[in-house]
Amino acid sequence: MTDRYQTFTRTPLGQTLVKNLGLPDPVPLQRWTEGSRVIDGSVVFGAIGETEAGKAIQALLRDIGASFSTATEGVASSQIRPKALVFDATGALSTADLTSLQRFFSPVIRQLAPAGRVIVVGRTPELATSTEQHIAQRALEGFTRSLGKEVKRGATVNLVYVAPDAHEQLDSTLRFFLSPKSAYVDGQVARVGTGPLVGNDPERPLAGKVALVTGAARGIGAAIADTLARDGATILGVDVAQNADPLRKVMTRLGGSELLLDVTAVDAAQRIAAHAQEQYAGLDIVVHNAGITRDKRLANMRTDTWDAVLDVNLRAPERITSHLVEAGTIRAGGSIIGVASIAGIAGNNGQTNYATSKAGVIGLVQALAPKLAEKQIRINAVAPGFIETEMTAKVPFTIREVGRRINSLQQGGLPIDVAETIAWFADPASAGVTGNVIRVCGQSMLGA
Ligand code: NAD
Repeated sequence: MTDRYQTFTRTPLGQTLVKNLGLPDPVPLQRWTEGSRVIDGSVVFGAIGETEAGKAIQALLRDIGASFSTATEGVASSQIRPKALVFDATGALSTADLTSLQRFFSPVIRQLAPAGRVIVVGRTPELATSTEQHIAQRALEGFTRSLGKEVKRGATVNLVYVAPDAHEQLDSTLRFFLSPKSAYVDGQVARVGTGPLVGNDPERPLAGKVALVTGAARGIGAAIADTLARDGATILGVDVAQNADPLRKVMTRLGGSELLLDVTAVDAAQRIAAHAQEQYAGLDIVVHNAGITRDKRLANMRTDTWDAVLDVNLRAPERITSHLVEAGTIRAGGSIIGVASIAGIAGNNGQTNYATSKAGVIGLVQALAPKLAEKQIRINAVAPGFIETEMTAKVPFTIREVGRRINSLQQGGLPIDVAETIAWFADPASAGVTGNVIRVCGQSMLGA
């Protein structure tokens, strides 16, 4: 799907009009390609005091070979443009400490390179040891979300809350947010908790793992299959019989196996479990991506239209998850990922059925995260915003154009953006990441 407006803004005439009329300027985002480094440029690190999280962040920056300097009050404007600004705010014990944010960022924020990254690391507010600390840490959300709206040229701003004693779990999450893999993830809050330390190869983090991807024949599902396979996983792709040809193409390309079934069929969970057991002796990753829309205002909604959407988007993931967990198909260390939508957060005219199903997916994550932790299985969800696929190509032109522009990056995302976020969740090194719902929406204004 081409964004003709974005293409036009890259022409000399387009740039003149953008500048003179103050029109949206959706710069092409930098995405990960073979050989990309985690961060291509220098990093400026700041902190409120010396903390365990700060030490872990600096160790990671060394590990990825980033050239970084430390500063408490930003860097002088004559210095080179940093590609990332990373601020450790875990040391903020009261609101008095919040001035450090302004002191660090104000002098340097204008210097941030195109497609730059800003990451603030805080302490999980609910786990604070005092009321003052809880308030100060919670305040970081307002800071990062506002700064996300101020930075330009494809830069993103995200907040990572780390639980006490979980600083060693920060690696995979910081790598994701620093790298081009998070190009369309902006204004988000990720939470990292404790978990077993898993040392794997960041180039092939899913080597030896088996991933089920539903709706893998096209769109976002095909991108998820490609990306998880790129990271080393063997893919079991599921889609409906009508999509047998495209599904076979994807699975042949990736050397995976396919299973033609409707996820709403009464025996869908049993068939998936049997196939996974027979072919791979189980599963490590389950991505509930298959989804449909049947838009109608509620006054005109028929029961079958309502149920069709709830069945595919919510009841099927609920039933399949429950069966795969009970049957022991998902191995310890496994990761389940739901695909929600910002419609499930913000609501959307004509989508009561869809938004109910997608808010339910968020409920599934929140309800199951603590229970599955006992079995060492994690569950998270992505909530995509406007992603360029066949689904959104069918949206009427004006609504489509608005959907593309009303976010901080002023453009739609690509299926790969959703897939990269899922790959971060799936990574065994993200052992401390569970119960998260991360929007892949370029910081859409909807439901923000
Ligand atoms: P798509 O329509 O292009 O692809 C969906 C795939 O799921 C298709 O291959 C389809 O055959 C399969 N599928 C549908 N019903 C199925 C069933 N009953 N059993 C098995 N497979 C089934 O959609 P997409 O845009 O790639 O969306 C993928 C997911 O992302 C969906 O859950 C969707 O709700 C969600 N999402 C998409 C967007 C977006 O902007 N495209 C935004 C938010 C959320």
